[in-house]
Amino acid sequence: MVGAGIAGLSVAQRAAARGLRPLVLDGGDLAGGATHVAAGMLAPVAEAAFGEGALLELNLAAAARYPAWVDELTELGGRDPGYRRSGTLLVARDRDQAEALEREADFRRQNGLAVERLTPSRARGVEPALAPTIRLAFSAPDDHAVDPRALTAALLAAIDRGGGEVRAGVRVRELLVESDRVAGVRLQDESELRAGAVVVAAGARSGQLGGLPEHARVPVRPVKGQLLRLRDPAGPGLLDRVLRTEECYVVPRGDGRYVLGATTEERGFDETVTAGALHDLLRDAVEVLPGLAELEVLEASAGLRPGTPDNAPALGPGALAGLHWATGHYRHGILLAPLTGDLVVAGLLGEPVDERFSPTRFAAGVTA
Ligand SMILES: Cc1cc2nc3c(=O)[nH]c(=O)nc-3n(C[C@H](O)[C@H](O)[C@H](O)COP(=O)(O)OP(=O)(O)OC[C@H]3O[C@@H](n4cnc5c(N)ncnc54)[C@H](O)[C@@H]3O)c2cc1C
Repeated sequence: MVGAGIAGLSVAQRAAARGLRPLVLDGGDLAGGATHVAAGMLAPVAEAAFGEGALLELNLAAAARYPAWVDELTELGGRDPGYRRSGTLLVARDRDQAEALEREADFRRQNGLAVERLTPSRARGVEPALAPTIRLAFSAPDDHAVDPRALTAALLAAIDRGGGEVRAGVRVRELLVESDRVAGVRLQDESELRAGAVVVAAGARSGQLGGLPEHARVPVRPVKGQLLRLRDPAGPGLLDRVLRTEECYVVPRGDGRYVLGATTEERGFDETVTAGALHDLLRDAVEVLPGLAELEVLEASAGLRPGTPDNAPALGPGALAGLHWATGHYRHGILLAPLTGDLVVAGLLGEPVDERFSPTRFAAGVTA
């Protein structure tokens, strides 16, 4: 496995569970990429988008798999992955946003997704810290959240118990290709590691690895996101559900910590945190949740979402024998983790895979 983010780790965990002996290499810190930054919303309903039917199906299947998967991880590794069945509130600040939210809610109902319309007073009944000025809210009771840092700690413990190995600070320079087959990797220090199969799970850098012919690559681009981690010195209670508006979201961890996110920026491999982005996030969030202004700032960070041309992930066997992909998860890498592991390991074992997310679809000009 190249990359120890949520994608590489979820594949390694399922691979170990099914009797394989995974080795995960990461050029940086373990789970230190986008996974370290992510807010952890598990939001197939709130993030359902027009024209992304296959992705919606995948996202819903992943959300349904979550409870059993976190139980499995807790049992295997003995660590709590930080899963919260919180539900989500979608909030409109003004009339235009309220109209847009009504249309979004109709689209979700047409797709059989649970959303409930709440007047401002009912919304403030369930979340009293909401501003009195909000115009409308919808509840999405099936969208939950997880703490990605707790989740990766639980995954690492489960992989360790399952007999897998994970190494930090080992950068892969290129894949070794011999007679149209991927036979292993060459590291930054020129040493080689041979393997029966290589899974590329290098996040936003998945398209950058050397050694592959052009037709065998997956086009992955970095989509920057900035966010803030906050803490209420008074403890939990300001907000129970995930709160989303058109401009921002606030994810409660349940213990007085909150994540406020996030920007979406196309700026190449730039991971700087900017004052303007943080200003905008705080301004927009305080307007719907005034109490947020009292919280302490713990951390400001930026990460790179791995985006593909159709926003859907690339999962399973690639264009060469021995080459597999677990990448392109864009905004949903944490949500998709339990299925990423299952689907990619199925491909490694030669079992049928979901062709709609085949990594080879880009070379063929077909998209999910
Ligand atoms: C601000 C923000 C908020 C987000 N919020 C959510 C959310 O609420 N819910 C959700 O589901 N998703 C969310 N996401 C998306 C999610 O974080 C990503 O989809 C997911 O983390 C991608 O995981 P990954 O393992 O593919 O990549 P990463 O986590 O980036 O991991 C890739 C790893 O590969 C390593 N690597 C790269 N190149 C090499 C190499 N050559 N050799 C060795 N190792 C290498 C890196 O060091 C890194 O550790 C968010 C993302 C951002 C940026």
